[in-house]
Amino acid sequence: MSDGENRTTSADAPETPGSRQRAGGWIEVIAGSMFSGKSEELIRRLRRAQIARQKVQIFKPLVDDRFSEDHIVSHSEMRIASRTVRGSGELLTLVEDDTNVVGIDEGQFFDAGLPAACNTLADRGKRVIVAGLDQDYLGRPFEPMPQLLAIAEYITKTLAICVVCGDPANHTQRLVASSDRVLVGASGLYEARCRRCFRPEGPD
Ligand code: ADP
Ligand code: ZN
Repeated sequence: MSDGENRTTSADAPETPGSRQRAGGWIEVIAGSMFSGKSEELIRRLRRAQIARQKVQIFKPLVDDRFSEDHIVSHSEMRIASRTVRGSGELLTLVEDDTNVVGIDEGQFFDAGLPAACNTLADRGKRVIVAGLDQDYLGRPFEPMPQLLAIAEYITKTLAICVVCGDPANHTQRLVASSDRVLVGASGLYEARCRRCFRPEGPD
């Protein structure tokens, strides 16, 4: 995001450990609806860390096969290489000692162990950045994102644009009938909608 108009927090996370050379790491969460720019923002932060010559490792969960097996790809075609993992346990074993920054996309598709894994990594001095949906298609908090939001030092809420009316959109509208919480794959399954236009019971 370059304009910052849809940020609801003013606190931008520091790019590097603070000027006092703190040993501790921290957790940043980027949360919002689909199409709100979470992946773009995650990729932007990870690129900047790479430019700063920090060692960066990037992960996504196995369930997300939207676009690419080995890249995080945004809806606007920004991409960055990533490693697919089966869960938070595998992720933890793969993070190397000299890694400075850990990026994680689609946090909502991880198991309930993700917040503890992120805490472990941050306690080891790493900057951990997690992007993910904060609500499911019914507007319910999407675990484990609420738990991550509670323990994060820095939170960025991203909003999309409502495709019905053009207002800022905080909801992910499912366009097909299914009661599965996780429904990924084909395009055209979801669109961004504002509070007024959101129909959790099904699209009009
Ligand atoms: P997320 O990771 O939150 O699903 P992405 O970072 O993958 O979002 O994609 C964000 C991009 O999607 C925007 O920059 C824009 O180019 C595109 N886009 C498509 N539909 C919308 C929408 N309804 N609102 C905002 N951006 C949209
Ligand atoms: Zn609307």
